[in-house]
Amino acid sequence: MRIVDVEMRCCRKKPEQFEAGAFRTGDFQGFEFLVVTVKTDEGLSASMFGFAGRSAEGAGKLIADSVRPFLIGRDPRDREKAWHEFRTADRWWGHLPIYAYGPFDTCLWLLSAQAAEQPLYKYLGAYRESVPVYGSSMILSEPKDYVAEALRAKAEGLRAYKLHTPGNDIDEDLEAHRLVREAVGPNFRLMSDPVSVYNLEQAIRFGRVLEQLDYYWFEEPLYDEDVHALRELSRTLEIPIVGTEVLAKHPYSIAECIATRVVDRVRADVSWTGGVTGVMKTARLAEAFGVNCEVHTSIFHPLEIVNLHCCAAMKNCDFFELLYPVEGFSFGLAEPLQIKDGLATPPNRPGLGVELDWDDIDACTMKVV
Ligand SMILES: [Mg+2]
Repeated sequence: MRIVDVEMRCCRKKPEQFEAGAFRTGDFQGFEFLVVTVKTDEGLSASMFGFAGRSAEGAGKLIADSVRPFLIGRDPRDREKAWHEFRTADRWWGHLPIYAYGPFDTCLWLLSAQAAEQPLYKYLGAYRESVPVYGSSMILSEPKDYVAEALRAKAEGLRAYKLHTPGNDIDEDLEAHRLVREAVGPNFRLMSDPVSVYNLEQAIRFGRVLEQLDYYWFEEPLYDEDVHALRELSRTLEIPIVGTEVLAKHPYSIAECIATRVVDRVRADVSWTGGVTGVMKTARLAEAFGVNCEVHTSIFHPLEIVNLHCCAAMKNCDFFELLYPVEGFSFGLAEPLQIKDGLATPPNRPGLGVELDWDDIDACTMKVV
Protein backbone atom coordinates (compact mmCIF):
# COMPACT_ATOMS: atom_id res chain seq x y z
CA MET A 1 0.00 0.00 0.00
CA ARG A 2 1.39 3.40 -1.01
CA ILE A 3 0.36 6.99 -0.36
CA VAL A 4 -0.59 8.62 -3.67
CA ASP A 5 -2.11 11.93 -2.58
CA VAL A 6 -2.21 14.33 0.37
CA GLU A 7 -5.03 16.89 0.35
CA MET A 8 -5.02 19.83 2.73
CA ARG A 9 -7.91 22.17 3.41
CA CYS A 10 -7.50 25.48 5.21
CA CYS A 11 -10.62 26.10 7.28
CA ARG A 12 -12.22 28.68 9.55
CA LYS A 13 -15.21 28.44 11.87
CA LYS A 14 -16.66 30.90 14.32
CA PRO A 15 -18.93 29.30 16.89
CA GLU A 16 -21.19 31.80 18.65
CA GLN A 17 -20.53 30.74 22.23
CA PHE A 18 -17.26 32.47 23.05
CA GLU A 19 -16.73 35.82 24.71
CA ALA A 20 -13.76 38.04 24.02
CA GLY A 21 -10.97 36.93 26.34
CA ALA A 22 -11.99 33.26 26.44
CA PHE A 23 -8.58 32.42 24.98
CA ARG A 24 -6.69 35.02 27.07
CA THR A 25 -4.87 36.58 24.10
CA GLY A 26 -7.21 39.20 22.72
CA ASP A 27 -10.42 38.94 20.76
CA PHE A 28 -11.48 35.55 19.42
CA GLN A 29 -11.94 35.68 15.64
CA GLY A 30 -12.82 32.03 15.21
CA PHE A 31 -11.06 28.69 14.94
CA GLU A 32 -8.52 28.31 12.15
CA PHE A 33 -7.78 24.67 11.41
CA LEU A 34 -6.62 22.25 8.73
CA VAL A 35 -8.31 19.13 7.44
CA VAL A 36 -5.74 16.77 5.95
CA THR A 37 -6.59 13.69 3.85
CA VAL A 38 -4.08 10.98 3.03
CA LYS A 39 -5.07 8.71 0.11
CA THR A 40 -3.58 5.36 -0.91
CA ASP A 41 -3.31 3.38 -4.13
CA GLU A 42 -5.59 0.73 -2.60
CA GLY A 43 -8.53 3.10 -2.29
CA LEU A 44 -8.22 3.67 1.46
CA SER A 45 -8.11 7.23 2.74
CA ALA A 46 -7.97 8.84 6.17
CA SER A 47 -8.70 12.42 7.20
CA MET A 48 -7.95 14.40 10.33
CA PHE A 49 -8.13 17.92 11.67
CA GLY A 50 -4.94 19.83 12.39
CA PHE A 51 -4.22 22.82 14.61
CA ALA A 52 -3.31 25.97 12.68
CA GLY A 53 -2.79 28.75 15.23
CA ARG A 54 -4.23 32.00 13.93
CA SER A 55 -3.80 31.31 10.22
CA ALA A 56 -4.99 28.14 8.49
CA GLU A 57 -3.77 29.44 5.13
CA GLY A 58 -0.36 30.29 6.55
CA ALA A 59 0.05 27.00 8.41
CA GLY A 60 -1.43 25.00 5.54
CA LYS A 61 0.99 26.33 2.94
CA LEU A 62 4.01 25.95 5.23
CA ILE A 63 3.14 22.39 6.21
CA ALA A 64 1.97 21.23 2.75
CA ASP A 65 5.24 22.23 1.11
CA SER A 66 7.24 20.07 3.54
CA VAL A 67 4.99 17.16 4.45
CA ARG A 68 3.32 16.33 1.11
CA PRO A 69 6.54 15.44 -0.73
CA PHE A 70 7.76 13.65 2.40
CA LEU A 71 4.72 11.34 2.54
CA ILE A 72 3.90 10.56 -1.08
CA GLY A 73 5.13 7.11 -2.10
CA ARG A 74 5.42 5.80 1.48
CA ASP A 75 3.65 2.74 2.83
CA PRO A 76 1.34 4.18 5.54
CA ARG A 77 2.00 1.11 7.71
CA ASP A 78 5.70 2.03 7.96
CA ARG A 79 4.90 4.59 10.64
CA GLU A 80 8.04 4.14 12.69
CA LYS A 81 10.25 4.62 9.62
CA ALA A 82 8.33 7.77 8.69
CA TRP A 83 8.55 9.04 12.28
CA HIS A 84 12.36 8.77 12.42
CA GLU A 85 12.92 10.06 8.90
CA PHE A 86 10.64 13.02 9.57
CA ARG A 87 12.60 13.76 12.75
CA THR A 88 15.81 13.89 10.70
CA ALA A 89 14.27 15.86 7.82
CA ASP A 90 12.73 18.37 10.22
CA ARG A 91 16.05 18.86 12.00
CA TRP A 92 17.86 19.51 8.74
CA TRP A 93 15.61 21.74 6.68
CA GLY A 94 12.10 21.77 8.09
CA HIS A 95 11.78 23.25 11.59
CA LEU A 96 8.02 23.10 11.35
CA PRO A 97 5.66 24.11 14.19
CA ILE A 98 5.01 21.54 16.93
CA TYR A 99 1.53 20.88 15.51
CA ALA A 100 2.67 20.09 11.95
CA TYR A 101 3.22 16.33 11.94
CA GLY A 102 0.51 15.10 14.34
CA PRO A 103 -2.42 14.96 11.89
CA PHE A 104 -0.35 13.08 9.31
CA ASP A 105 1.01 10.54 11.78
CA THR A 106 -2.58 10.09 12.94
CA CYS A 107 -3.75 9.44 9.37
CA LEU A 108 -1.05 6.75 8.99
CA TRP A 109 -2.40 5.04 12.12
CA LEU A 110 -5.99 5.35 10.91
CA LEU A 111 -5.10 3.85 7.52
CA SER A 112 -3.28 0.98 9.23
CA ALA A 113 -6.18 0.33 11.62
CA GLN A 114 -8.65 0.47 8.72
CA ALA A 115 -6.55 -1.99 6.72
CA ALA A 116 -6.56 -4.29 9.77
CA GLU A 117 -10.33 -3.68 10.19
CA GLN A 118 -9.79 -2.71 13.84
CA PRO A 119 -10.87 0.30 15.89
CA LEU A 120 -7.78 2.38 16.59
CA TYR A 121 -7.72 1.66 20.34
CA LYS A 122 -7.93 -2.10 19.71
CA TYR A 123 -5.25 -1.85 17.04
CA LEU A 124 -3.02 -0.02 19.55
CA GLY A 125 -3.81 -2.63 22.20
CA ALA A 126 -6.75 -1.68 24.40
CA TYR A 127 -6.50 -1.32 28.16
CA ARG A 128 -10.13 -0.25 28.78
CA GLU A 129 -13.40 0.45 27.00
CA SER A 130 -14.09 3.91 28.43
CA VAL A 131 -12.25 6.78 30.12
CA PRO A 132 -13.41 9.26 32.84
CA VAL A 133 -13.97 12.74 31.45
CA TYR A 134 -13.23 16.13 32.96
CA GLY A 135 -14.56 19.47 31.81
CA SER A 136 -11.81 22.02 31.23
CA SER A 137 -12.84 25.68 31.48
CA MET A 138 -12.03 28.53 29.17
CA ILE A 139 -10.94 31.85 30.72
CA LEU A 140 -14.05 33.19 32.46
CA SER A 141 -14.80 36.73 33.59
CA GLU A 142 -15.41 36.29 37.31
CA PRO A 143 -14.99 33.72 40.09
CA LYS A 144 -18.76 33.11 40.20
CA ASP A 145 -18.69 32.05 36.53
CA TYR A 146 -16.34 29.17 37.42
CA VAL A 147 -18.70 28.16 40.22
CA ALA A 148 -21.68 28.00 37.86
CA GLU A 149 -19.73 26.00 35.32
CA ALA A 150 -18.27 23.54 37.82
CA LEU A 151 -21.73 22.89 39.24
CA ARG A 152 -23.06 22.28 35.74
CA ALA A 153 -20.22 19.88 34.91
CA LYS A 154 -20.85 18.00 38.15
CA ALA A 155 -24.62 17.87 37.49
CA GLU A 156 -23.95 16.48 34.01
CA GLY A 157 -22.02 13.63 35.59
CA LEU A 158 -18.51 14.62 34.48
CA ARG A 159 -15.88 13.16 36.79
CA ALA A 160 -13.87 16.33 37.41
CA TYR A 161 -13.48 20.01 36.49
CA LYS A 162 -10.37 22.05 35.74
CA LEU A 163 -10.09 25.81 36.09
CA HIS A 164 -8.07 27.95 33.70
CA THR A 165 -8.10 31.22 35.63
CA PRO A 166 -7.26 34.64 34.09
CA GLY A 167 -3.90 35.19 35.81
CA ASN A 168 -4.40 38.91 36.22
CA ASP A 169 -4.47 38.81 40.02
CA ILE A 170 -3.26 35.86 42.06
CA ASP A 171 -5.74 36.52 44.88
CA GLU A 172 -8.68 36.65 42.50
CA ASP A 173 -7.51 33.38 40.91
CA LEU A 174 -7.29 31.79 44.35
CA GLU A 175 -10.73 33.08 45.26
CA ALA A 176 -12.21 31.32 42.21
CA HIS A 177 -10.55 28.06 43.31
CA ARG A 178 -11.89 28.47 46.88
CA LEU A 179 -15.43 29.25 45.78
CA VAL A 180 -15.53 26.32 43.37
CA ARG A 181 -14.38 23.89 46.08
CA GLU A 182 -17.03 25.23 48.47
CA ALA A 183 -19.72 24.88 45.82
CA VAL A 184 -18.98 21.34 44.57
CA GLY A 185 -18.22 19.92 48.03
CA PRO A 186 -15.42 17.61 49.09
CA ASN A 187 -16.03 14.56 46.90
CA PHE A 188 -15.51 15.97 43.41
CA ARG A 189 -12.14 16.13 41.72
CA LEU A 190 -10.83 19.58 40.82
CA MET A 191 -7.69 20.60 38.98
CA SER A 192 -5.98 23.92 38.40
CA ASP A 193 -4.19 25.14 35.27
CA PRO A 194 -3.05 28.78 35.38
CA VAL A 195 -1.13 28.29 32.07
CA SER A 196 2.30 29.59 33.05
CA VAL A 197 1.47 32.95 34.62
CA TYR A 198 3.31 32.70 37.94
CA ASN A 199 6.88 32.74 39.13
CA LEU A 200 8.26 30.11 41.52
CA GLU A 201 7.48 32.07 44.66
CA GLN A 202 3.88 32.67 43.59
CA ALA A 203 3.46 29.08 42.45
CA ILE A 204 4.56 27.78 45.88
CA ARG A 205 2.06 30.06 47.59
CA PHE A 206 -0.70 29.13 45.13
CA GLY A 207 0.01 25.40 45.33
CA ARG A 208 -0.14 25.39 49.13
CA VAL A 209 -3.67 26.79 48.98
CA LEU A 210 -4.62 24.16 46.38
CA GLU A 211 -3.32 21.48 48.75
CA GLN A 212 -5.56 22.81 51.54
CA LEU A 213 -8.50 22.81 49.12
CA ASP A 214 -7.73 19.21 48.08
CA TYR A 215 -7.12 19.91 44.38
CA TYR A 216 -6.04 16.84 42.45
CA TRP A 217 -3.25 18.44 40.41
CA PHE A 218 -1.56 21.79 39.69
CA GLU A 219 -0.77 22.17 36.00
CA GLU A 220 1.74 24.39 34.18
CA PRO A 221 2.04 27.09 36.83
CA LEU A 222 5.39 28.02 35.22
CA TYR A 223 6.48 27.80 31.61
CA ASP A 224 7.27 24.22 30.58
CA GLU A 225 10.87 25.14 29.75
CA ASP A 226 11.45 26.63 33.22
CA VAL A 227 13.04 23.32 34.16
CA HIS A 228 15.00 24.28 37.25
CA ALA A 229 12.14 26.13 38.94
CA LEU A 230 9.64 23.40 38.08
CA ARG A 231 11.86 20.75 39.62
CA GLU A 232 12.13 22.91 42.75
CA LEU A 233 8.36 23.34 42.80
CA SER A 234 7.70 19.61 42.41
CA ARG A 235 10.04 18.89 45.33
CA THR A 236 8.51 21.61 47.53
CA LEU A 237 4.82 20.84 47.09
CA GLU A 238 2.88 17.65 47.72
CA ILE A 239 0.20 18.32 45.12
CA PRO A 240 1.26 16.72 41.80
CA ILE A 241 2.78 19.24 39.36
CA VAL A 242 1.71 18.52 35.80
CA GLY A 243 3.32 19.85 32.62
CA THR A 244 5.14 19.38 29.28
CA GLU A 245 2.19 19.88 26.88
CA VAL A 246 4.03 22.54 24.87
CA LEU A 247 7.55 21.10 24.93
CA ALA A 248 8.59 20.35 21.35
CA LYS A 249 9.95 16.99 20.23
CA HIS A 250 8.21 14.52 22.49
CA PRO A 251 9.18 12.04 23.81
CA TYR A 252 12.90 12.89 23.65
CA SER A 253 12.56 16.34 25.17
CA ILE A 254 10.69 15.07 28.20
CA ALA A 255 12.81 12.05 29.06
CA GLU A 256 14.83 14.22 31.44
CA CYS A 257 11.62 15.73 32.88
CA ILE A 258 10.45 12.24 33.77
CA ALA A 259 13.76 10.85 34.96
CA THR A 260 14.54 13.76 37.30
CA ARG A 261 10.93 14.62 38.18
CA VAL A 262 10.84 18.11 36.75
CA VAL A 263 7.10 17.50 36.95
CA ASP A 264 5.14 14.71 38.64
CA ARG A 265 2.93 13.95 35.63
CA VAL A 266 3.61 14.67 31.97
CA ARG A 267 1.30 15.79 29.16
CA ALA A 268 0.95 14.78 25.51
CA ASP A 269 -1.72 14.98 22.82
CA VAL A 270 -2.09 13.88 19.22
CA SER A 271 -2.16 17.45 17.89
CA TRP A 272 0.89 19.13 19.46
CA THR A 273 3.12 16.19 20.30
CA GLY A 274 3.48 14.25 17.07
CA GLY A 275 0.26 12.31 16.63
CA VAL A 276 -0.52 8.84 17.93
CA THR A 277 3.15 7.83 17.76
CA GLY A 278 4.24 10.82 19.87
CA VAL A 279 1.52 10.28 22.47
CA MET A 280 2.03 6.55 22.84
CA LYS A 281 5.83 6.83 23.01
CA THR A 282 5.49 9.50 25.70
CA ALA A 283 2.90 7.49 27.63
CA ARG A 284 4.96 4.27 27.56
CA LEU A 285 8.15 6.11 28.52
CA ALA A 286 6.34 7.69 31.48
CA GLU A 287 4.80 4.37 32.46
CA ALA A 288 8.23 2.79 32.79
CA PHE A 289 9.13 5.46 35.36
CA GLY A 290 5.85 5.12 37.29
CA VAL A 291 4.63 8.46 35.98
CA ASN A 292 1.21 9.33 34.58
CA CYS A 293 0.78 10.84 31.12
CA GLU A 294 -2.34 12.99 31.39
CA VAL A 295 -3.50 13.43 27.81
CA HIS A 296 -3.97 17.07 26.89
CA THR A 297 -6.99 18.35 24.98
CA SER A 298 -6.47 18.67 21.24
CA ILE A 299 -9.38 21.18 21.04
CA PHE A 300 -11.11 19.87 17.89
CA HIS A 301 -13.38 16.88 18.43
CA PRO A 302 -12.06 14.76 15.55
CA LEU A 303 -8.63 15.01 17.20
CA GLU A 304 -10.22 14.47 20.63
CA ILE A 305 -11.58 11.12 19.40
CA VAL A 306 -8.02 10.12 18.50
CA ASN A 307 -6.87 11.25 21.96
CA LEU A 308 -9.66 9.09 23.40
CA HIS A 309 -8.50 6.02 21.45
CA CYS A 310 -5.01 6.63 22.90
CA CYS A 311 -6.35 7.08 26.45
CA ALA A 312 -8.21 3.77 26.08
CA ALA A 313 -4.92 2.11 25.10
CA MET A 314 -2.92 3.26 28.13
CA LYS A 315 -3.16 2.62 31.86
CA ASN A 316 -1.26 5.65 33.16
CA CYS A 317 -3.79 8.39 32.35
CA ASP A 318 -6.53 9.24 34.85
CA PHE A 319 -8.75 11.36 32.63
CA PHE A 320 -9.82 12.35 29.14
CA GLU A 321 -9.85 16.17 28.89
CA LEU A 322 -12.59 18.05 27.05
CA LEU A 323 -12.87 21.80 26.74
CA TYR A 324 -16.03 23.07 28.37
CA PRO A 325 -18.81 23.86 27.68
CA VAL A 326 -18.57 20.96 25.24
CA GLU A 327 -21.11 22.41 22.78
CA GLY A 328 -18.71 25.23 21.83
CA PHE A 329 -16.33 22.63 20.41
CA SER A 330 -18.69 19.90 19.23
CA PHE A 331 -18.20 20.29 15.51
CA GLY A 332 -16.32 18.28 12.90
CA LEU A 333 -17.85 14.88 13.64
CA ALA A 334 -20.96 13.41 12.01
CA GLU A 335 -21.94 11.95 15.42
CA PRO A 336 -21.12 13.57 18.78
CA LEU A 337 -18.64 12.10 21.26
CA GLN A 338 -20.24 9.33 23.29
CA ILE A 339 -20.25 10.29 26.99
CA LYS A 340 -22.38 8.50 29.57
CA ASP A 341 -22.11 8.74 33.36
CA GLY A 342 -19.00 10.85 32.87
CA LEU A 343 -17.24 8.16 30.82
CA ALA A 344 -16.23 8.62 27.19
CA THR A 345 -16.27 5.57 24.94
CA PRO A 346 -14.23 5.33 21.73
CA PRO A 347 -16.27 4.13 18.73
CA ASN A 348 -15.95 0.39 18.25
CA ARG A 349 -15.66 0.53 14.44
CA PRO A 350 -12.52 0.32 12.24
CA GLY A 351 -10.10 3.24 12.23
CA LEU A 352 -11.43 6.42 13.83
CA GLY A 353 -14.82 4.72 14.03
CA VAL A 354 -16.84 7.82 13.17
CA GLU A 355 -17.20 9.93 10.03
CA LEU A 356 -16.15 13.55 9.84
CA ASP A 357 -18.89 16.10 9.19
CA TRP A 358 -18.03 16.86 5.56
CA ASP A 359 -20.94 19.24 5.01
CA ASP A 360 -19.64 21.45 7.79
CA ILE A 361 -16.03 21.04 6.63
CA ASP A 362 -17.07 22.11 3.11
CA ALA A 363 -18.75 25.17 4.59
CA CYS A 364 -15.59 26.01 6.60
CA THR A 365 -13.08 25.47 3.76
CA MET A 366 -11.43 28.71 2.60
CA LYS A 367 -8.72 27.22 0.44
CA VAL A 368 -7.21 23.89 -0.63
CA VAL A 369 -3.41 23.89 -0.67
MG1 LIG B 1 -2.81 22.82 30.22
